[in-house]
Amino acid sequence: PGPVAFAQTKKPAPAAPAQTAANIEQRVAALLAQMTLEEKVGQLNQYSGREVTGPASNRKTTLLSSIRGGQVGSMLNVKGVKDTREIQAVALESRLKIPLLFSLDVIHGYETTFPIPLAEAASWDLDAIRLGAHVAAKEAAASGIHWTFAPMVDIGRDPRWGRVMEGAGEDTYLGSLIAKARVLGFQGEKLGGTDAVMACAKHFAAYGAAIGGRDYNAVDLSPQQLWEVYLPPFRAAADAGVATFMNSFNTLNGVPATGNSYLQRDILKGQWSYPGFVVSDWGSIGELANWGYATDKKDAAQKAITAGSDMDMESDAYSQKLAQLVKDGQVKIDLVNDAVRRILRKKFELGLFDDPYRFSDEAREKQVLNDPQNRVAARDMARKSLVLLRNENATLPLTKTLRSIAVIGPLAKAKRDLNGSWNVSADTTRITSLYDGLSQRAGKTTQLRYAKGCDPSGDSRAGFEQAVATAKNADLVVLAVGETWDLSGEAKSRTDLHLPGPQEELFRALKATGKPVAVVVFGGRPLVFDAIAEQADAILYAWWPGSEGGLALADVLFGDYNPAGKLPITFPRNVGQIPIAYNQQYNTGRPVTKPGDIKYKSAYIDAPNTPRYAFGYGLSYTSFKYSDLKISRPQLKAGEAVQVSFTLTNSGKVAGEEVAQLYLRDLVASVVRPLKELKDFQKISLKPGQSKTVTFTLDKDKLAFYNQQLQWVAEPGKFNLMVGSASDDIRLEGAVELLP
Ligand code: BGC
Repeated sequence: PGPVAFAQTKKPAPAAPAQTAANIEQRVAALLAQMTLEEKVGQLNQYSGREVTGPASNRKTTLLSSIRGGQVGSMLNVKGVKDTREIQAVALESRLKIPLLFSLDVIHGYETTFPIPLAEAASWDLDAIRLGAHVAAKEAAASGIHWTFAPMVDIGRDPRWGRVMEGAGEDTYLGSLIAKARVLGFQGEKLGGTDAVMACAKHFAAYGAAIGGRDYNAVDLSPQQLWEVYLPPFRAAADAGVATFMNSFNTLNGVPATGNSYLQRDILKGQWSYPGFVVSDWGSIGELANWGYATDKKDAAQKAITAGSDMDMESDAYSQKLAQLVKDGQVKIDLVNDAVRRILRKKFELGLFDDPYRFSDEAREKQVLNDPQNRVAARDMARKSLVLLRNENATLPLTKTLRSIAVIGPLAKAKRDLNGSWNVSADTTRITSLYDGLSQRAGKTTQLRYAKGCDPSGDSRAGFEQAVATAKNADLVVLAVGETWDLSGEAKSRTDLHLPGPQEELFRALKATGKPVAVVVFGGRPLVFDAIAEQADAILYAWWPGSEGGLALADVLFGDYNPAGKLPITFPRNVGQIPIAYNQQYNTGRPVTKPGDIKYKSAYIDAPNTPRYAFGYGLSYTSFKYSDLKISRPQLKAGEAVQVSFTLTNSGKVAGEEVAQLYLRDLVASVVRPLKELKDFQKISLKPGQSKTVTFTLDKDKLAFYNQQLQWVAEPGKFNLMVGSASDDIRLEGAVELLP
């Protein structure tokens, strides 16, 4: 199956009158003028409510009467056409009949599960990523959802942080392009399309920089790092028209993001003139008190609305305190009006006032959720996300002459784990395991034998013996190890990134049989492995590949698809090396002049400075040659551009794709620059022996950075240009000079 494009579903309902920005403003103003203070505050509240459609309970009664009373603007975690319609009907009984926004964490698929976002980033394929978000949006929209809390655009550079699984990795350039692709995929070009939902850029800001990689921890960042590394993906999302932002749990230099005026008012709504609204993270307004930044809920509500948090997710701080704060003169009504306007505007743009049910009906829901094309797209995305880390003696692809394969390991038959964290679908029968994928593909001549070997965690070795016996009877072993789905994700920070339990020991026992061992590693983050990294015959990094993962893995293991994934995040050798993102500032050290000299450079004495696998790394079943670098001009001035071109050749025997990468180093600057920064890339498909000229364009903006005064500047001087297959596999080098 190849990539598919999707036609938009035709709107079955009478077409909504064409809405211009101006008439939306009029409608918002007219509605606002009719609202009481309590109704205004009502629009700012969001509640989680699986109970709202469940059996009778106090919570259900309270929620329903709040909705009927116009005290709720949005619900999260209510899904499905039946339930959302039922609850929307209650909202329409309220005095002003303002429809609810139904929201959900649709992070990597809805009913069809795509690979986790970090895995998708490994594809470096923006069209496929956009399509993945579109399919998720289409399914969610058909199921009554209006708004997803995605994409997470936090740069994640610390694999101890379990939420690296939800982002696009460590690089700002790649992360910004992916942020844009996901926003466009979820929303379409303009809000209001049938097969689209509103997106949400989260978590504003710097949530990924939690100290020590411990989720929810404080963040302490230089202004340069904030502006240069962490903010650009948010800016890219805003520029792509993302409807909403979510703030975050962390502090930034001592001020919680949710109560942070600098972030929300000065930067987002001020400098960026962002027109959408900001939802708090779950309970994060209430947490201002937990941080010791507010005395109580009332103080927290006052600080959050003042700082620009428009909607309160689950703190009940606005609902309980905001009206009183306005009456007491502690919060100006203008702040409340502004927040309400921002939210109503999105409800109008979505078309909710014209059709509060957004064309949802159960027949369409069923049809869209079961559309086989969705699975084709998920399988294609999964194949693109796999990263071949090692392949000694061309162990992979598996040949058709293999008589038997021992499929071993605690994750060989796993299903739920393949969907990873933030899984929406409850239907595990939709998931194809690695074992099932291989057995569907293996055909009659290759026998599969299975042994579990051990549990993914725990410490029993009781299954080793049978696993070793199974391996001895086979031509080759495919070993499936890794993290189970519940080990990465929100609140899943870890201090030890080794494979849990005795999994590496199982590998050693299998390797000792003398049979070739190809290892498939599942996980939501870069994991650390020692023996496997050094002795496995092949390693395929599978991440959490989603419901079609087993099929995609079989495609790659059997060579029906040539892997082309590249790591979007550095893999350390051990946890002590973190932080180890590729683009660090680095003192290259005094030269060693005589034997025995200690090289006084920044280094550990017990581990190299190099990572296990570098950013941008990933192998193919073919090989690529880079040659003939041409730089169109040695010098440039503002307003000029430089073309960096070279020839890429498939020098191997099978067709394949290569992600060619352009890195840059600013040699001398008023703020020390990283050794390498990714500035461009292209994914190119080549037949064996085929060559193509690849061209990157560099302009002054790509040479710029934030100086000490936080101005975005490109300083005259020399820049090294590096073209290669990974950040540590540079094949061609040149230079360019920026003239004053
Ligand atoms: C997470 C958000 C998520 C929200 C709603 C929070 O705990 O940090 O990313 O969108 O819950 O489920």
